[in-house]
Amino acid sequence: MSFVEYSECIQDGDVVIVFLGHESMMPLQVQKGAQTQTRYGAIRHSSDLIGRRFGSKVTCSKGGWVYVLHPTPELWTVNLPHRTQILYSTDIATITLMLDLKPGAVVCESGTGSGSLSHAILRTIAPTGHLHTVEFHAERSQKVQEEFRRHRVGHLVTVRNQDVCRQGFGVEGVADAVFLDIPSPWEAIVHAKTAIKRQGGRLCSFSPCIEQVQRSCEALQAAGFCELSTVEVLLRVHEARSVTMALPDFGPQEDHAHFNPAPSNATATLKTATPPREMAAHTGYLTFATKERE
Ligand code: SAH
Repeated sequence: MSFVEYSECIQDGDVVIVFLGHESMMPLQVQKGAQTQTRYGAIRHSSDLIGRRFGSKVTCSKGGWVYVLHPTPELWTVNLPHRTQILYSTDIATITLMLDLKPGAVVCESGTGSGSLSHAILRTIAPTGHLHTVEFHAERSQKVQEEFRRHRVGHLVTVRNQDVCRQGFGVEGVADAVFLDIPSPWEAIVHAKTAIKRQGGRLCSFSPCIEQVQRSCEALQAAGFCELSTVEVLLRVHEARSVTMALPDFGPQEDHAHFNPAPSNATATLKTATPPREMAAHTGYLTFATKERE
């Protein structure tokens, strides 16, 4: 198992995502001889997981069943242990597209946080790219490094425990793209410029507040970045359900011999898709910019 390559069967040491039902999942590290309790009973790692195919339906000790899924960055994002606020797939999809990430790309990122975005970047730039990620919180940088190793992507990433605003990314002229998710991104813009290749590259900064965006844009312009644009990506979910409605009664239609009006108590059942009346949709603004060839 690796987060950047699919394997057929579960092995000792793998991370699997246990799917317990609608919107209920948990990550699990497979360990020979170990057991994990679920609301459907215990999963015995040696007999229930090791050697089984990813995607299998596993019956737990109380008779209920779960699916054991191969991990992906998308599943990790909704299952990872939160040590910080994280980025979700809606923003990540736009970031990946707008930074033009692809296999072989070199990316600089700060802060690493809980590694939600990092895992998605790694999957996209594998097998030949590299991620340089900077996190100034010592414990967070250590925890995420252990996760990268367990997820078998350690060879694709360098984690640096330093302040990106003071010390930068630890590399010069190598990055195709830089991503910032820190409270004061304007302080890291000059370091981002240094990290990007002489041939140029792209930058994205994520900020929850518009005042942060304004300061970042000023710093980007001052540093000579061009093509500045800021977007907000909102996810609008529609609920699909069946509704039963009374059919309208148009009254007697004596002139129209072939028209049968609906009886007053007639109903029809329809499928509808309804957006919510209110949404908690704001995550942050994504500001993009280009560094041109030097
Ligand atoms: N994008 C990440 C979440 C980042 S949370 C994810 O998807 O998981 C922001 C992180 O930036 C925090 O962990 C914080 O410790 C770190 N941070 C804030 N300022 C920093 C700085 N100046 N240098 C390095 N890391 C910083």
